[in-house]
Amino acid sequence: MAYDPNNVFAKILRGEIPSLKILEDEHVLAFMDIMPWSEGHTLVIPRAAARNLFEIQPHALAKLIERTQTVAQAVQKAFKPDGLRLVQNNEPAAGQTVFHLHFHIVPCYEGVPLLIHQPVMADQALLRAHAERIRKELP
Ligand code: AMP
Repeated sequence: MAYDPNNVFAKILRGEIPSLKILEDEHVLAFMDIMPWSEGHTLVIPRAAARNLFEIQPHALAKLIERTQTVAQAVQKAFKPDGLRLVQNNEPAAGQTVFHLHFHIVPCYEGVPLLIHQPVMADQALLRAHAERIRKELP
């Protein structure tokens, strides 16, 4: 399927929709997921217009995964979860709901079930505080 330039992450990249940013550079943008599966759930997206893993150029994917590691390290330091899951869904059958490639960085806490795809919007003030905590741990 063709890339839809009006998907929500494309709008975030263009600044048409607000986001709680963690890191941005010429290659990627990282921001808080508004319906987090766990405390500290962060998304990392390429600036390149790619619907999924199959569409992105290898050099852009390399930058994306490199930045994803940087953000994951900051999330780990900020929240000290017991584990951390990296998720990337391709197409609805796999759970993709926003059709701009993204990596989910999902902290996992012993005994706390993940709220996967539950339409619960996080409190904005809390998310803002979480974003600040992660940003402080960036190199
Ligand atoms: P996926 O199901 O893998 O496509 O993941 C899409 C993710 O984007 C979900 O976890 C949503 O909570 C998240 N999401 C949707 N809209 C926004 C938004 N405006 N800002 C931040 N995260 C969003």
